[in-house]
Amino acid sequence: MTQPSSRHLPARKRIALVAHDNKKKDLIDWAYYNRTVLARHELLATGTTGRLLTEALDRPVKCLHSGPLGGDLEIGALIAEGKIDVLIFFWDPMEAQPHDPDIKALLRIGVVWNILIACDRSTADFLLTSPLMQDEYEAKLPDYSEYTGRKMR
Ligand code: PGA
Repeated sequence: MTQPSSRHLPARKRIALVAHDNKKKDLIDWAYYNRTVLARHELLATGTTGRLLTEALDRPVKCLHSGPLGGDLEIGALIAEGKIDVLIFFWDPMEAQPHDPDIKALLRIGVVWNILIACDRSTADFLLTSPLMQDEYEAKLPDYSEYTGRKMR
């Protein structure tokens, strides 16, 4: 199968949000502060983060499984399918998580598909205030043809 060389990002972006327990307050504060801008986009999140966001923003946020129950992997799969444009992932650098391999997988697949990723509040601020957030955008995809076309013996 030939891979497309770019991915079209709509003006209304699909934003996935995830926060580890020690970072949830930070993410909810950030999302509430930015609720007007976030209202222009579609939101989805891991289970607990999504429930807290729904309450704080008083708007629908699609909730997947909780992270340790497979939510991170669900987001990863959506990224591979081209269904997520932005990942806001406030992971906790001070505490190991039961689903550490899933976290690594999510961060990896986000880079594989060149999506936008912010892992802290400052980066999330810069990302959200970029003029490109409000416009359509053509994201270049890395060329994996050499990899996908490799000959196996
Ligand atoms: P949660 O999952 O939003 O269900 O807490 C986040 C995570 O720990 O990955």
